[in-house]
Amino acid sequence: MQYYSLNNHALKVSFTTAVVQGLAPDRGLYFPESLPAPDLHFIQALEKYSDQEIAYQVIAPFVGDDIPETVLKQIISDTLSFPFPVNEVEPNVYALELFHGPTLAFKDVGARFMAGCLGYLLRNDQRPVTVLVATSGDTGGAVAAGFHQVPGINVVILYPSGKVSTLQEKQLTTLGGNIRALEVQGSFDDCQRMVKSAFLDAALQQHVLLTSANSINVARWLPQMFYYFLAVKQLKALGKQNPVFSVPSGNFGNICAGILASILGLPIAHFIAATNVNDTVPRYLENGDYKPSAPIATLSNAMDVAEPSNFVRVLQLFEQNFPALQAKLSGYAFDDTATVQAMEAMYKNNGYLLDPHGAVGYLGLKKYLALHPETTGVFLETAHPVKFADTAPHALKAHIHIPARVQALYDLPKQSIPLPATDEALKAWLLQQ
Ligand SMILES: *Cc1c(COP(=O)(O)O)cnc(C)c1O
Repeated sequence: MQYYSLNNHALKVSFTTAVVQGLAPDRGLYFPESLPAPDLHFIQALEKYSDQEIAYQVIAPFVGDDIPETVLKQIISDTLSFPFPVNEVEPNVYALELFHGPTLAFKDVGARFMAGCLGYLLRNDQRPVTVLVATSGDTGGAVAAGFHQVPGINVVILYPSGKVSTLQEKQLTTLGGNIRALEVQGSFDDCQRMVKSAFLDAALQQHVLLTSANSINVARWLPQMFYYFLAVKQLKALGKQNPVFSVPSGNFGNICAGILASILGLPIAHFIAATNVNDTVPRYLENGDYKPSAPIATLSNAMDVAEPSNFVRVLQLFEQNFPALQAKLSGYAFDDTATVQAMEAMYKNNGYLLDPHGAVGYLGLKKYLALHPETTGVFLETAHPVKFADTAPHALKAHIHIPARVQALYDLPKQSIPLPATDEALKAWLLQQ
């Protein structure tokens, strides 16, 4: 399988190059040159296959010959080592719980899959390999856990001092070994700028092979298709067909993978992009005008994105056909007041705890189901409520259960390296390694 840059369809690279580079040299996102659908009989008989077999069938054509079958199967089984249950929270409304992984966020799947791929693809490279990533919270933890103890790869995470939650900081700073956390005396934007400037620094690249693990990497994007296949499999066992999926969206990687799954033949009736007040895409779907505004901070902060980086891939999946896009995708936006009300009402009526991201997904689903009442609806619960316990409504706080593996983190010492928020400081630090 080859991948082309969305900025230049003639620029084609292998899966390996797409994963190692992350972004094409012309700053375009990589996109598969064909969309190989699994066998129709396979999709019709999903319930007969194990989760691992389904994942292998779906992803193998996108990887091609770059990773041998046995290695890819091992990567998949390491990736899918926790459950992805669908949970009926109201009649015909299902929560697809994606938070049972090591860092309690759905990003664990993409990060673990990418770590496995990169570990294999770079096994013969003599240079030290460093995965460099800036985080505002969730990504860093998932990447750290995914790459922990992968041989030959070091991970350097930049995070803004004092601006991530206590739990998130613990997830970044307590693993040790090949994971190092740079505590930047600045903002998340500073961290992102410093990482970008390191990637563009040719002298630095000679010294160390730098690669990124952000959400535009194809090895993080594509395995997210698994959630949708595994959900459809479970719903089939319950006699439910052709569901709609509401996806709480920020950078639009997750929903883009779902749309790809449906294009490959997975029966999904419709998608709902549920956002917080960072509503660039819902507005675009309504009036065809793509006008990002300045990002606004909300309770569902992993979705505080005004310019969703993966949306160009969504457009490409519909071959830039706006009516086709509108027919398959609706967009709804909700503010923090609605989000908190949904969390409170859900707990009161159904005894189910939502996190703020899942709450936005639930609200989007309800809005769509009001117009299409006969449909089976699924919303993605993308984080465990404990991750956002700091800001949870008062009445719910006491009910949020802290999983044992999270509790243990609070007792581990933080190990971070303070760093001034300048490009030169990062470069000097990397050169010393
Ligand atoms: C990253 C994240 C999202 C947004 O996912 P995208 O793929 O960027 O749209 C939603 N919820 C949580 C908890 C996240 O961490």
